[in-house]
Amino acid sequence: MKDAMTSLSQVSLLQQKLHSAKIALAELNDQKAQSQSSLLQFIGHLSLACKGQSIELDNKLAKLRHNLINVEHIDEVLPDLLEVEQLLKQQYHHVMGQLEDGRASLAKVIRQLQRVDSVPDKLKKEIAYYKQDLGKPFHTYWDYFPKVERLVGFFEAIMHEQLSQGDKLEVLPKHRQLAHELAQMISEIEFRKDQRDQVLVIKDYLAAEIDVDGLIDAYQTILSLLLENIALEKSASQEFLYALNDALSAVREVVNDSYNSNQRSYQLKKQLNREINSRVDNVGDAIIDIDDIDHLKLQVTEQLASIRTALGRKEALEQREQAMLRKSMETMRDELNELSKEANAYKERLFEQQKLNLLDTLTQLPNRAALEERMEQEFRNYQRHRHPLWVAVADIDHFKSINDNFGHSTGDKTLQVIAMALKNSLRESEFVARYGGEEFVLLIPDVSANDIEQLLNRVREKVKNIPFKFKNQRITVTVSIGAAQILENEQISETFERADAALYKAKHESRDRVIIDA
Ligand code: GH3
Ligand code: MG
Ligand code: MG
Repeated sequence: MKDAMTSLSQVSLLQQKLHSAKIALAELNDQKAQSQSSLLQFIGHLSLACKGQSIELDNKLAKLRHNLINVEHIDEVLPDLLEVEQLLKQQYHHVMGQLEDGRASLAKVIRQLQRVDSVPDKLKKEIAYYKQDLGKPFHTYWDYFPKVERLVGFFEAIMHEQLSQGDKLEVLPKHRQLAHELAQMISEIEFRKDQRDQVLVIKDYLAAEIDVDGLIDAYQTILSLLLENIALEKSASQEFLYALNDALSAVREVVNDSYNSNQRSYQLKKQLNREINSRVDNVGDAIIDIDDIDHLKLQVTEQLASIRTALGRKEALEQREQAMLRKSMETMRDELNELSKEANAYKERLFEQQKLNLLDTLTQLPNRAALEERMEQEFRNYQRHRHPLWVAVADIDHFKSINDNFGHSTGDKTLQVIAMALKNSLRESEFVARYGGEEFVLLIPDVSANDIEQLLNRVREKVKNIPFKFKNQRITVTVSIGAAQILENEQISETFERADAALYKAKHESRDRVIIDA
């Protein structure tokens, strides 16, 4: 019995233990399920964090996340996990390789940067530190990005430095040509007195070593000076038109006033005439009606007195009218005088302008436009009188070497002196113009074929004998001349072409000589 009691209590104890063990197991299972779910959740989050490295990995991770949703036991996703693990390992090696490549290319770029001489010292030092720093390996992309940013910063700083230095553009032959053309253009344009200093500065600049920015500035300045002149000329014309307009409206007012006062005096006169007529009629009526002679006398005297008064008023009216007429005539005359003064001033200005437009500013000789006018005039004379007419073209020999050896402004002065010599070697009826550059055209009428060569040789000798002295060196400057006489049935432009061809021959034969087209 005792044994039975003991066994019973043992069974009950075992039952209790079993129950406790069951409870503990259930708790354990719960905990495990919780840990598994946390683990699965963690795997899910981790897989999201790994997204974006490679498409293959992304696809596998997406599949893993999908399978994780309904999984009872972690063993069910083990194959997926293994696959992902494999891929992640590969990816790690790939990333490490990439980071190493990136580091190598940064080092290469930085070596190139170190070769740029113009980098300021401070920046050079920073670049050297940076290069040193690049010696350490990168562990993650986060090591890589700031380095790239820093490198971009270096480039920016260098670019900024270079830009602020103005990064001078190279001067090409075409820029020199542009400078030369501008210099030539300036010498052919007449600028206002107050603009000349500015123009002179530009001229000197163009003759010296130019740079592209300066050239652009020079063009810009000349352009604005020209625009200024155009605007001034325009406003001068406008002023004249305004003055004309004012004068015309003043004249119109005067005419209107006289017309109106004429109308008024006409009305007044008409009324006065009517009055006088009626007085005269009254006198007549009175004479017919009245028998008493004394009464009649009185009546007549009264009527005559009122007629006299009316006539007096009429005379006064006429005088006033006369005075007004005189006054408006005077006003009109003053206005017209004023207007004609304005017109004369304007005409003079135009004439001055025209004259300036026909003169070459450097040499003060007539320019090409003036030459064309004169050629037409000489041609008309020739057609009328058939007297001989010669066209000669003179070109300075090796002029370029004067510019090259002694500078452009010495070249300019030489041109001025030679121009004067040419002008002084000709008679009043003869004509010389600067055709362009270092070429001059002479028009010589009334000289026979026998005399022309001698005449032109005298001109040539005169130039040759000018005692030029540049940089203490005695220099002889010579000209070559080609000439042709106008032929019957020839246009003067054709004569010019023959003269030019003769000049070409003179240049090719030996220079410093005269060739007449035969
Ligand atoms: P050639 O004997 O064959 O005529 O030789 P050249 O050097 O005189 O002739 P080229 O046509 O080669 O050069 C003419 C030079 O004249 C080039 C140009 O710079 C210069 N020139 C033209 N106009 C001016 C000017 O207004 N002022 C100055 N200083 N030089 C000018
Ligand atoms: Mg020449
Ligand atoms: Mg020439």
